[in-house]
Amino acid sequence: MSKTVLITGAAGFLGSHLCDRFLKEGFKVIGMDNFITGDEKNIAHLKNNSKFSFIKHDVTEFIKIETDIHYILHFASPASPIDYLKIPIQTLKVGSLGTHNLLGLAKAKKARLLIASTSEIYGDPLVHPQTEDYYGNVNTIGPRGVYDEAKRFQESITMAYHRFHGLETRIVRIFNTYGPRMRLNDGRVIPAFMGQALRGEDLTVFGDGSQTRSFCYVDDQIEGIYRLLMSDYAFPVNIGNPHEISISDFAEEIIKLTGTTQKVIYKDLPVNDPLQRQPDISLARKLLDWEPKVNRAEGMKITFDYFKNLSEEELYRSDHKDFSSYNNK
Ligand code: NAD
Ligand code: UDP
Repeated sequence: MSKTVLITGAAGFLGSHLCDRFLKEGFKVIGMDNFITGDEKNIAHLKNNSKFSFIKHDVTEFIKIETDIHYILHFASPASPIDYLKIPIQTLKVGSLGTHNLLGLAKAKKARLLIASTSEIYGDPLVHPQTEDYYGNVNTIGPRGVYDEAKRFQESITMAYHRFHGLETRIVRIFNTYGPRMRLNDGRVIPAFMGQALRGEDLTVFGDGSQTRSFCYVDDQIEGIYRLLMSDYAFPVNIGNPHEISISDFAEEIIKLTGTTQKVIYKDLPVNDPLQRQPDISLARKLLDWEPKVNRAEGMKITFDYFKNLSEEELYRSDHKDFSSYNNK
């Protein structure tokens, strides 16, 4: 009998790749999403798969599922800074109330729950590269605080359920991950630069571009998450690619890759934008025998090919997603 996994945020970037991976491993997959930042298109190819089912639901509301569930991966949450600045209350709710609902469901079903945490819990880090034992440097009341603090709360309540109720839990701290199925207009730097190159617009570097990030290709990320779920380790584990680059150097790489003749223009650095970010992945290496395999050049090429093949309509839908129907909830 196949085991069943519930994946929240299934219509999003990472959630949809997780659905593919668990189906490939022979699981029955139940996807759940309210489409607030995701897209039905990301799971359209699974429509006729008898092992896949989908429930449209906001996880901040009580979750009722009749069947047995063995694993839960909680990936529902806005993930792009532009998204969570526009829907701050939903962001706080999905990390707190949503996580509480999923913990309750996991407890009732005796399921193992993995939550998607983030490098953002380290804030603008004073320790570099970031190790799991670093407590972080987050501005609770800054604009990014809605995401960072929701994720920090998510980790705390997950550990409380683990310690108090003996629930089997896993916490992955995901560092910037990219690949096909990101929303072209979600505002994150890779779709932003690639969309700009494809539309013949200048590339917008925020600040002076000296801030750094370390980009992980989606297949590597999914492999790390899968191994962590199947491990017996309940404490947080960083999964990301330690190869760090400044955003201005990254813009130059994108110019070379895309062949755009446009230039780089500089805009204000968003408030509390972390100045440096690089995962220390020693723990994942040791515990999960995992490390990234796809280098940035390969991963960026696959991702650019994906964006190149989007329709004109999607390419020019550069206005941001319409959140008006969600903002009074
Ligand atoms: P995404 O925006 O593509 O996907 C998130 C999905 O969650 C969307 O489909 C959205 O509609 C859904 N969702 C949001 N709120 C919901 C709710 N209340 N009920 C049901 N569904 C809801 O983002 P992503 O990049 O795939 O990120 C997925 C998860 O991974 C998030 O929890 C994010 O915080 C975490 N993460 C991602 C990255 C990254 O680099 N991609 C980095 C760190 C953490
Ligand atoms: N960034 C940028 N131009 C853009 C979008 C983002 O220079 O058009 C910068 C942003 O300020 C940050 C980095 O790129 O320093 C990564 O931003 P992203 O939104 O992808 O994710 P973050 O790591 O900040 O959550």
